[in-house]
Amino acid sequence: MRVLAFLHGPDGTLADPDSPHIRVEDLGLMRGDGVFETVLVAGAHARELRPHLDRLARSASMLDLPEPDDAAWLRATRTVIDNWSGSDEFALKLVYTRGIEPEGEPTAFALGIEIDPKVRRAREEGVAAVTLERGIDPGLAARAPWLLLGAKSLSYGVNMAAVREAARRGADDVIFTATDGSVLEGPTSNVIVARDRTLYTPPATIGILPGTTQAAAFRGAERSGWSTKIEPVRASDLTTADGVFLASSVRKLTRVHTLDGTPLPDSSAIHDELTQAYESVYA
Ligand code: PLP
Repeated sequence: MRVLAFLHGPDGTLADPDSPHIRVEDLGLMRGDGVFETVLVAGAHARELRPHLDRLARSASMLDLPEPDDAAWLRATRTVIDNWSGSDEFALKLVYTRGIEPEGEPTAFALGIEIDPKVRRAREEGVAAVTLERGIDPGLAARAPWLLLGAKSLSYGVNMAAVREAARRGADDVIFTATDGSVLEGPTSNVIVARDRTLYTPPATIGILPGTTQAAAFRGAERSGWSTKIEPVRASDLTTADGVFLASSVRKLTRVHTLDGTPLPDSSAIHDELTQAYESVYA
């Protein structure tokens, strides 16, 4: 099941996802020159839609793209949700590219797709992760904005290569580290560490995405009596934590059970508790 809506037209124009729509010169395709969001829709509710649209606008601004038309994105999102008849939970991709220059408008569409069964399984069973160097230091994002660190750009080639490297090492996912040995994020997730009833995640200022799921999980956990801290996390802290989790819209909170080939302490009970706290945000 897939539902596609383009942003042009009064209500978001439904289009056939099996037909060609994007011209081959589109700079999103030619250069990965564009931005995107992936939103979790559950029970016809788009979770964290406002923060996703705010982040889309922030990413677009970092790439000097025209400001996204907020009302048009909301309409296209609604069109996809209203026409969805697949599983109760699905992934909604919002894609916004530079289009075709010089004559063109940006390309903008919303696409609903089913969630990969592997992702659903990982939510239940957890994942093995490896730490991989990202080659940046925590001050680089502020010094070099042209590197677009912390923008959700379409240029995910490096992120996907890192996931393939994890597979070569017998793992499922990646935790990127900075040159000073601190934790950055996953290729498609934020890292949350639990220790002594406190949750930690690194600050977005070090050049990572400010996660909508991490923020929602922290809200839920605080209501359930947890403390939360946004501060640098050292890679060496991961092995001694009570739990390490990867957070993203579609994977929700996924437990890391093995890091760099070494089993971590069993965090299943904490994972259950935090998942409940996260879900309670939408109850
Ligand atoms: N960091 C990166 C690089 C991502 O690609 C993502 C999501 O795909 C996240 C973090 C998590 O963001 P969110 O929780 O808003 O989905």
